[in-house]
Amino acid sequence: MNVLVLGAGIIGTATAYCLACEGHAVTVVDRQDAPAEETSRANAGLLVPSQSPPWNAPGIPWQALKWLRDDQGSLILRPRWEPWMWRWLLRFAWQSQPRHYRRNALNTLKLARLSKARLAALRQAEGLAYAETTGGILSLVRNPAALPAYARHAAFLRDLGLDVQYLDPAACVALEPALAPLGQRIAGGFHSRDDESGDAHALARGLAERATARGARFQFGTTVLGLVAERGRIASVATRAGALRADRYVLALGAESRALARGVGLALPIYPIKGYSVTVDIAGWAGAPRMPIRDPDLMTAATPLGTRLRVAGMAELTGIDRRIEPRYPERLVRALRALFPNLPSGARVEPWAGLRPMTPDGPPILGPTHYDNLLLNVGHGALGWTLAMGSAQVIADLVAGRRPSVALDGLTLAGR
Ligand SMILES: Cc1cc2nc3c(=O)[nH]c(=O)nc-3n(C[C@H](O)[C@H](O)[C@H](O)COP(=O)(O)OP(=O)(O)OC[C@H]3O[C@@H](n4cnc5c(N)ncnc54)[C@H](O)[C@@H]3O)c2cc1C
Repeated sequence: MNVLVLGAGIIGTATAYCLACEGHAVTVVDRQDAPAEETSRANAGLLVPSQSPPWNAPGIPWQALKWLRDDQGSLILRPRWEPWMWRWLLRFAWQSQPRHYRRNALNTLKLARLSKARLAALRQAEGLAYAETTGGILSLVRNPAALPAYARHAAFLRDLGLDVQYLDPAACVALEPALAPLGQRIAGGFHSRDDESGDAHALARGLAERATARGARFQFGTTVLGLVAERGRIASVATRAGALRADRYVLALGAESRALARGVGLALPIYPIKGYSVTVDIAGWAGAPRMPIRDPDLMTAATPLGTRLRVAGMAELTGIDRRIEPRYPERLVRALRALFPNLPSGARVEPWAGLRPMTPDGPPILGPTHYDNLLLNVGHGALGWTLAMGSAQVIADLVAGRRPSVALDGLTLAGR
């Protein structure tokens, strides 16, 4: 079957790879010159089933109002007169009720588990290297008064079937000796052993190469202008390089998916939430960390990626705006130094910003639309790297006419 995949981020590229493996004639279009040059380029690199519970835990929307008043905080709302932003925020608040929260967590988790299994199979089959670690991640707690709340969350995660263990400060340092200089400033930590990490950009490039070797064609430098619908089907896709036609179309345009889908009457509840990262060259630092560390107090994560260390965080609601506001990467560098006081000074630092394509309930939007030849693979929010291989597998299942590898309830557009 001829399949046209719109978007070559980690989601579109993984989809193209899975489809090419099944013998489909795949074309991928993207406006950039290479795979994963937008949101998938420099994310935190965490592959985290343990982060399946969405951001809007019960009580968080109220807490967020307080964070917004903190000028040094990680949440920034730039009020704009965009009805879709306010609609999205209302739905985000609504979905924070405990019954929605648990269901949304489980719906994301089933896909995260499938993804983890597919990624392990991919490592075996293709031998791709992407600066991966597979020893779990450590979430630090700094404030002793906050430990009971984190322990309750760990119990919630264990109840979902995840392996999360409390570690006292000495055990945290034994697991990651680079934390030793923090000494008394560590109250404890939680080791989530299902988690992994790696460089999404590197894997996307590897997947694109392997897909190309199986006959997929990547048409870069091509901006998609709109979908053209006729008689209940997508007839073609208008691009700056002319119309493209296929038997099936897969929409995987990240944060831009909403605008393109609107043109054919599909309302995707996706809002772009900007995040920042800073990648530091740590080649030659003998004391460098080996394990990804989450620091919820600083609302950041630091991830070793071979000879680089990446710290990422911030959530800025400012529409489709990829500009890098210098004070936020600077804040991340300060957070990184607070975590690793021995980080060598003078290291080369690369700032970056990307737009998380967030749904108000948390899980991505996969699968069918009312156009029988258009499938969605969008809205992966803060977890697109974690969910990429599983989402791609689901699309390959649907194109092949098979029962999807995970039940699609809670993951499709219907009812969202
Ligand atoms: C700071 C930050 C940290 C993050 N950390 C993590 C993490 O640790 N773990 C995790 O799992 N996830 C993380 N994420 C989320 C993850 O990066 C995203 O969910 C994922 O990259 C989304 O992938 P995508 O392919 O849907 O979007 P993208 O990577 O943005 O891909 C969309 C593609 O579509 C193309 N495109 C868009 N519009 C057009 C058009 N009109 N015509 C042609 N091409 C177009 C773009 O060029 C792009 O290549 C993080 C995100 C951020 C911002």
